[in-house]
Amino acid sequence: MEEQIRKVAVVGGGITGLTAAYFLQKKAQEQGLPIHITLIEAAHRLGGKIQTLQRDGFVIERGPDSFLSFKDSVNQLAKELDIEDRLIGSSKGRWFVVAEDQLQPIPTGTVMGVPTKFGPFLVSDLFSWSGKVRAAGDLVLPKTSTAVDQSLGKFIRRRFGKELVENLLEPLLSGVNGGDIDRMSLEAAFPQFAEAEQQHRSLMVGMKKTKLALSSEVYSDKEEGIFQTFEGGMETLVKTLEKKLNGCTVLKGVKVEGIKKEAGKAVLKLNNASSIQADQVLFALPHSMLQPLFEPYGLLKGLKEIPLTSIATVSMAFPEAAVKSGGRYRFCSGPQQRFCDYGMQLGSSEMAIQNRAKG
Ligand SMILES: Cc1cc2nc3c(=O)[nH]c(=O)nc-3n(C[C@H](O)[C@H](O)[C@H](O)COP(=O)(O)OP(=O)(O)OC[C@H]3O[C@@H](n4cnc5c(N)ncnc54)[C@H](O)[C@@H]3O)c2cc1C
Repeated sequence: MEEQIRKVAVVGGGITGLTAAYFLQKKAQEQGLPIHITLIEAAHRLGGKIQTLQRDGFVIERGPDSFLSFKDSVNQLAKELDIEDRLIGSSKGRWFVVAEDQLQPIPTGTVMGVPTKFGPFLVSDLFSWSGKVRAAGDLVLPKTSTAVDQSLGKFIRRRFGKELVENLLEPLLSGVNGGDIDRMSLEAAFPQFAEAEQQHRSLMVGMKKTKLALSSEVYSDKEEGIFQTFEGGMETLVKTLEKKLNGCTVLKGVKVEGIKKEAGKAVLKLNNASSIQADQVLFALPHSMLQPLFEPYGLLKGLKEIPLTSIATVSMAFPEAAVKSGGRYRFCSGPQQRFCDYGMQLGSSEMAIQNRAKG
């Protein structure tokens, strides 16, 4: 009897959908599973938010420009795809924060906004003495109950007080995440904070013991920074994955507009007036794009309540000679400085410079 081929549809060709399709294809090939995968992407290109422009000799990122090197997942993926040798690390640079209209250096030993070295924290001009004393309260305050989630803002204000949050944690964390700390879930966005508090009671003590603290550019004296990208930019990852999806059907410029169930199978209605039948469907879409597909069935209503924030990237290029001290720096600013609603990050493109040199 002929073996029945199971059809799997992956909806969304951003990095999530691409990696899901890749690993599914790999498993099917290794184990000889009779699976056929169709990746469906609404845009005419794959990659979603990852989009690199190569223009006038510059590598310009329209979306993410890097990933954190201590998070193993991208490194593992690069190894899996055999592009490990195309990884580029950032150079170690100085971090500043804007406080009272001045660029202030972030104290050495700061890990995700949490001071873990007492000397640099005590001499920092970022905080008043009363602010420092209040922040040290973290060392003695009891841990919170794990029963209910709380906002990141509430959690860090309780541990460190208003001043440390406004001058350091909020600019760093809202800048990186592009969101309001009082609307970000601690469990979803910063589970490592909740874990550090539960294990060590004090966040300062807990963060000092994390892998991040040991590898962080602001903590160690290593020459490499904590960010990485690829030669040719982040889209190198997308292009490599696309090439490797040789056992899948990839549909570009095709949008899934509806889903229904028929005889135990999912039927995906497409915008080209056709449809696809699948035994399994994997959605790799942002929540705001997933929810409308299930609206007719009254499902996933909760996703509507998760707010979206907007984010803009601006790339500027200057002659190297016009930039002081090699220009290796990053700075961030929080909502208190009124540049924008949540936060802002500005960094010198040390990786773009390396990319140019290699390109
Ligand atoms: C400006 C910016 C900067 C960022 N910087 C960083 C950074 O420096 N480091 C970092 O780690 N992260 C960063 N991020 C976050 C990171 O880019 C995203 O988390 C990640 O790319 C999301 O990938 P995804 O595949 O889950 O979703 P997406 O990239 O959004 O992909 C979803 C795909 O689904 C497609 N789609 C939508 N609806 C349908 C449909 N109905 N049918 C078919 N296809 C559909 C879309 O066209 C899209 O291609 C940044 C994000 C932005 C916007």
